[in-house]
Amino acid sequence: MNINCNICGHKGFGAGPGGRMSASGLPPRCEKCNSLERHRAYKEVFFKLIEDSYKRKSFIQFSPDGTVEPEWFASYEVSTYGGENSLDLQKIDKPSHSYDIVMCNHVLEHVPYDNAALNELLRITKTNGFVFLTVPSPATQERTTDWGYPKEEQHGHYRIYGNDFKEILKRYLPNAWILSVEAIDSVTKSNDLVFFLLHNKSSAAKLQDTQLPIIVLQKGS
Ligand SMILES: [Zn+2]
Repeated sequence: MNINCNICGHKGFGAGPGGRMSASGLPPRCEKCNSLERHRAYKEVFFKLIEDSYKRKSFIQFSPDGTVEPEWFASYEVSTYGGENSLDLQKIDKPSHSYDIVMCNHVLEHVPYDNAALNELLRITKTNGFVFLTVPSPATQERTTDWGYPKEEQHGHYRIYGNDFKEILKRYLPNAWILSVEAIDSVTKSNDLVFFLLHNKSSAAKLQDTQLPIIVLQKGS
């Protein structure tokens, strides 16, 4: 395999957590930085956003994961669960319209009230900005299963999102523009889904002007 990890530049890959391989049968975990398919796939999407019109923006991320490089942004903040700067996703202690880009990867399944969290993510986003949102493998099961409590044997998740995740987004954010794009990891060719939440038509149009093959899931107000 001749493809470098797009996060650390390394070329060696090994089995993932629990010894698993990627869907294509290739080893998913970078042996140097431990990145997996999704981290590199999301970064591919971000490379295109940065090449286009999203340079030098204000940025906040909920839970760091190597998807972005802090120097891409005019300002970079990260909320780490349990850390000094930890923010409650369901009641984010930040003014409305604070950030151009708000990123939330694989965190939504850890909070009891995902409806509140989704609305909060969009609230702190500037009117011409976007929320970059991902959840674990939303395409692997048809319907979302919500236990209403953090299930220990399921990584402490409150729920597993299914194919109906986009319907959940529409229901909780009836006025938002909701877009999606397929993210592909160059190393394993695995694909994943990124969702974008936006306030208005012009911010959605700006995202559609990039080189990314954006799909519109909901036209907001
Ligand atoms: Zn790496």
